[in-house]
Amino acid sequence: MKDRAILHSDANCFYASCEMVLQPHLQNKAVAVCGNTEERHGIVLAKSELAKKAGITTGMPNWEALQKCPDLVIVPPRFDYYVRFSKLLHGIYERYTDCIEPYGMDECWLDVTDSIKAPMEIAEEIRQAVKDELGLTVSIGVSFNKVFAKLGSDLKKPDAITEITRESFKEKIWPLPCSELLYCGRQTTKALERMAVHTIGDLAALPLDYITNKLGKNGNMLWHFANGLDDSRVAHMDYCAPAKSLGHGITCVENLESPDEVNKVIVSLCQDIGYKLRSMNLFAGGVCLTVKDKNLFCSSYQKRLDAPVQDELTISKVAYELLVEGYDFKQSIRAVTVTAIHLSQGGTPIQSILLHDYERDERRKKLNSALDEINDEFGKGAIKPAVILGESKMPKNSHKEIVLPGMMHK
Ligand SMILES: [Mg+2]
Repeated sequence: MKDRAILHSDANCFYASCEMVLQPHLQNKAVAVCGNTEERHGIVLAKSELAKKAGITTGMPNWEALQKCPDLVIVPPRFDYYVRFSKLLHGIYERYTDCIEPYGMDECWLDVTDSIKAPMEIAEEIRQAVKDELGLTVSIGVSFNKVFAKLGSDLKKPDAITEITRESFKEKIWPLPCSELLYCGRQTTKALERMAVHTIGDLAALPLDYITNKLGKNGNMLWHFANGLDDSRVAHMDYCAPAKSLGHGITCVENLESPDEVNKVIVSLCQDIGYKLRSMNLFAGGVCLTVKDKNLFCSSYQKRLDAPVQDELTISKVAYELLVEGYDFKQSIRAVTVTAIHLSQGGTPIQSILLHDYERDERRKKLNSALDEINDEFGKGAIKPAVILGESKMPKNSHKEIVLPGMMHK
């Protein structure tokens, strides 16, 4: 059978790059998109390449970012614009295939197996078109499966293409640390290290029985990934899974010591949740707050609402109440996730081109979230029933998640 041709296209520094297109005077500046820009304690949600070079990281408080990089330009997030850019990116991808599976607002897998053009030629055309037409850059991985395509898009950026073939993957992928593999989270990485498995090549060389015994299904899956045996399909662009829960979390750079500090983070996370609920015409019937203390112990609290809501104010207020009622602050807090739960569909579906994007967006996060965060981050025992709600949590970098049923469909 003919090998598949899969691209993974990742828009570089997406939110910050969108802002630099919208506000050209920001070009060539260190830019950070931050929640709560008026607040001293707002946090960095995304940063430009230059800001990254200056040491700015996602989750860093604004004041610290400014201390690190006094020239930093802080701008508030405008998700509605980013969604439009995301839609435009999809428009470019759709010139080549309708097998497009988003992984977040800024990443997509494309299956171009049936195209008459060569995959590298398509990648090059996409890279150029994105730059010329949108003023954004992407990094693209080209491979014969999704996992390697995604890895490829991480290898060279920004504005770059990396091909990983059956002939080259051992040389290009195997020397990399296991943590580079999709769904190999922190806990799994640690477990592998305890077995002296450091690189993807080490993992690939283990007997399958051994790794399955040690790490169960997840280990089995990762072993297949490491050996280039990922056969999961790229979903069709019209595939939409209904959302079960929708959340947003972030790991803070500094520990949060007081309810007030945590509330700043809650409020900034809820902006995104409220916006997404409205875009998807969903209502939250409950709120779940998960905090992780500095010893990485998670506590989770949830509450049903009297009536379903879509607004961030109510959600953040309830999340704050949960915090104050539930958490004793004996330990300071490292990570915060707010999740809208018991979702229901609103009466009149909004006619919005954004809807598709969001729904597809959601699928990915769930994928990432569920596997990565729950299995790895929390460890099987650490997770409390409240967190299970859907299958929750924030992915490795962006710390955003939306949870949907039907993940990892093959
Ligand atoms: Mg990106």
